[in-house]
Amino acid sequence: PYGPIRPTHTIRVRPLTCSETRRGDQRVVATSLLGPGYATFGFSAVFDAGDSQEAVFEGSGMRQLVELATDGFSCTVFAFGQTGSGKTYTLMGPLGQVQHCPPNPTGSWWCPMQAVALTWLSIRDLLSPGPPCTLPLRWSKTRGFYVENQLSVDFESLEAIASLLLQGSQRRRTSAHALNRHSSRSHALLTIHIRSRNQASARPSRQGTLCFVDLAGSERVKETGSSGELSIEANNINRSLLALGHCISMLAKPRGKRTHVPYRDSKLTRLLARSLGGSGVTLMVACISPSSRCLSETLSTLHYASRARRVTTRPLANRKLLQSLEEEIHALQLENLSLRQQLGLPRVPMRSTEVLGTPMRMGAWPGLGGRFGPAGLHQFPLEGQLPLEGAPAWPSLYGLLRDFVVENEQLR
Ligand code: ADP
Ligand code: MG
Repeated sequence: PYGPIRPTHTIRVRPLTCSETRRGDQRVVATSLLGPGYATFGFSAVFDAGDSQEAVFEGSGMRQLVELATDGFSCTVFAFGQTGSGKTYTLMGPLGQVQHCPPNPTGSWWCPMQAVALTWLSIRDLLSPGPPCTLPLRWSKTRGFYVENQLSVDFESLEAIASLLLQGSQRRRTSAHALNRHSSRSHALLTIHIRSRNQASARPSRQGTLCFVDLAGSERVKETGSSGELSIEANNINRSLLALGHCISMLAKPRGKRTHVPYRDSKLTRLLARSLGGSGVTLMVACISPSSRCLSETLSTLHYASRARRVTTRPLANRKLLQSLEEEIHALQLENLSLRQQLGLPRVPMRSTEVLGTPMRMGAWPGLGGRFGPAGLHQFPLEGQLPLEGAPAWPSLYGLLRDFVVENEQLR
């Protein structure tokens, strides 16, 4: 029911590492326009060496993605780029330094989490203890492609998540070592299913997902001097990235010119079909190294990212859920309006942010005041109006509902 939206595209340039600095590598990437003579690329947001994880979280649209996931959307963050360009760092941050965070305060969320490592040939569970076992990839009409028998682990606190992620990333490495016959490097997919506990409340349960995809880095076999199994492995990684690239190229074409999208060409594209071109909301983060030695890989990552920018998706959330949310908000609006009349208060709150609660950084529904019609009600930009790239942020419907509930309590 939503109009097409473009994934948000972000570039992150990591700092030069100590060894790069020591061997005298030059910085060859600038995040501002330098004029003629340079290859230039445009993206939704660009982060430089000095930008923190928080800055990336806020500025890339990741916060909005989390909010959309809590509203029932299927959201995916992809990190791609050459090996060592900062993909894992961007998605996971420095895991060892997770600060204490109070556990889920209301107990109203239930977030089972799954993680797998994917190679060309196999899918392995990263959360199940014991020796890594291969899991089958299945397809069903209702779920699309999915991994069967994946272990789901509940988490209650940030520390617990961080510790699970650390174990998972260690398992990714050790299982890779033990199973080096096929591939020692893999793509990693972490999926968090966001469910509301739906306790006594009559609210419908939320069923969004948040998926983090840490793509294995592409590799130039000739340059790295890989041979034997290592070169097969590198070729397999490149093969799956190429399959992903083919899907992206096809999806980037205008709808009329699009022929078959080859999702079935690799395990990776099968699993990501929904996020890539279907009903998901996607954020792509291209990670690059600023070093002169990485220039050719950096250029190819930027070209890949530019092509991916043209892909659009049609996000679909749980329609029933959205309908009941709309009805609930509408009923509260009417009730608040009538309470305002009884109290002799103006029909419309003085400041639109009063209704919305905390103003959002990227300008949540600017001009909402102007959207209030003569009856003091505003319309929800629901049908076909999810904003395109560059448009104002899509606020959380649950956030809105909460704000109307607060207003209602105050008026009462
Ligand atoms: P990839 O997952 O792309 O192979 P990593 O995330 O492992 O790369 O990063 C490679 C190295 O660079 C790691 O030592 C990591 O700590 C460091 N690094 C990456 N990005 C940043 C950053 N933004 N700030 C500081 N260090 C970073
Ligand atoms: Mg990594």
